[in-house]
Amino acid sequence: MSLSDIEIAQQTEMEPIEKIAQKINLESDHLELYGKYKAKIDFETLEKSQEGSTGKLILVTAINPTPAGEGKSTVTIGLADALSRLGKSTMIALREPSLGPTMGIKGGAAGGGYAQVVPMEDINLHFTGDMHAITAANNALSALIDNHIFQGNELLIDSRRVIWKRVVDLNDRALRHVTIGLGGPLQGVPREDGFDITVASEIMAILCLATSLKDLKKRLSKIVVGYTYQRQPVTVKDLKVEGALTLLLKDAIKPNLVQTLEHTPALVHGGPFANIAHGCNSVLATRTALHLADYTVTEAGFGADLGAEKFLDIKVPQLKKAPDVVVVVATIRALKMHGGVPKSNLASENVEAVKIGFSNLQKHIENMQSYGLPVVVAINEFVSDTVAEVQMVKEKCLALGVEAALTSVWEKGSEGGVALAEAVLAEIDHTQVFSPLYDTDNETIETKVTKIVQKIYGGKGVAFSKKALTQMKNFEENGWGNLPICMAKTQYSLSDDPSLLGRPSDFIVTIREFVPKLGAGFIVALTGDVMTMPGLPKQPAALNMDVAEDGTVSGLF
Ligand code: ADP
Repeated sequence: MSLSDIEIAQQTEMEPIEKIAQKINLESDHLELYGKYKAKIDFETLEKSQEGSTGKLILVTAINPTPAGEGKSTVTIGLADALSRLGKSTMIALREPSLGPTMGIKGGAAGGGYAQVVPMEDINLHFTGDMHAITAANNALSALIDNHIFQGNELLIDSRRVIWKRVVDLNDRALRHVTIGLGGPLQGVPREDGFDITVASEIMAILCLATSLKDLKKRLSKIVVGYTYQRQPVTVKDLKVEGALTLLLKDAIKPNLVQTLEHTPALVHGGPFANIAHGCNSVLATRTALHLADYTVTEAGFGADLGAEKFLDIKVPQLKKAPDVVVVVATIRALKMHGGVPKSNLASENVEAVKIGFSNLQKHIENMQSYGLPVVVAINEFVSDTVAEVQMVKEKCLALGVEAALTSVWEKGSEGGVALAEAVLAEIDHTQVFSPLYDTDNETIETKVTKIVQKIYGGKGVAFSKKALTQMKNFEENGWGNLPICMAKTQYSLSDDPSLLGRPSDFIVTIREFVPKLGAGFIVALTGDVMTMPGLPKQPAALNMDVAEDGTVSGLF
């Protein structure tokens, strides 16, 4: 029987974190230790990494995923190990897992098989406390808003128009809608509220886009928490609490250093939701990695239509560096699903379905090329894949002039990623001129959304609800028109309808509503219903979790 992810992780002997830091010439003086195997990076190093660097950036993204995920994190980690194996100075910059999905369906998000970051138990549970600090900062703001209203409401905040919600880092559907302040005049002013999951908090997005403590404070001060009776926006600055919020985040802003099973240094830091936010690890961690290593491998959430688009149009301007190459991860199973095969039949060979489903991969390849970026495809190998199916993908990629590497890092670790690493290295020095999808400063909200829908999703056009039309007008009047757009859309389809697989065309995407996220510095465009507080499934992953008397953890996949 093959070993589970956690059993593989537990078999590995980790190296002390100081030794991992030595590989990237980072002296232990610059580490803030959290036990033997985790450390935060100090402000001095973070400051130095702002100076610009010559490090190469590899962005790992994927086709529209099946519910299980396509193995982006696994491939990201395995590719970095393979580059290390080839003697390249390499670092990883990854997101931190959230406890909600860990206890729910995912059971862990630190890679899989022989491509993992460790200590996986810590990374998947409380890690260095960043999530808790973000939860505390978010909820401190909620408490301060309600206290302001209770203590006389000098700012005239309309308690029916408070948009700032409380958060908890769990999947808890019972908290989606709550009423607070009940129990009489001394218990506060009653109003409707609700909880989001911590990773959906704007503070998480802010932490991930901030370039320094100073920038963090500036961004926090711009958060819009609600509106006055006169419908004027009320910000954190109006409440005068940006200092307190920054204080609560002073350690959480520092990236966390850990290692892979093969001892490649990895920064695991920040994890904004890829639907309501931009879905990538922190700018500070990516910059630090670029400064410390020659090659940085990073990942963007969901499929390339959501994660990579946001990486390129929202994160890159803050990072001031575009990827040097993009790796698009695909699995034969998912391509078959895009080719019309139901989930129950994925185990049997079906080359024709792979051929049809390739249309989804092709659209993502074309999209990444439209930004001027070189592309490599990683076929994340599963035991059920057949030679003929893999050959079909390779041939179709070749016809597009793109290398497709069969990648078996889940089964074999770095050895299974050498072909991918070599393909990446062959593409990485191709000179490219990064061309963003839209002109953030000079195009209207409507134009930016339309470009995303038509050029990236391949849709016919956009339908804006009445509310969205009014908001666009108000936002432009408020001076918010020059912000990038953060689309909130299903990850399962290129369209806004999760059942349209493959490469749909002629569809219209409906924008229901916009949400200003001024601290993060983007405008969220909501298509359909967006889940900001997930629920638990009937059989949550938590049912398998346990800890033995000696502290050994089980069930984290
Ligand atoms: P993503 O980053 O796309 O969400 P992950 O890398 O987290 O995906 O992988 C999702 C799950 O699939 C993990 O449990 C991982 O162990 C498993 N997995 C990934 N690649 C393979 C593979 N080639 N064979 C079997 N399981 C895999």
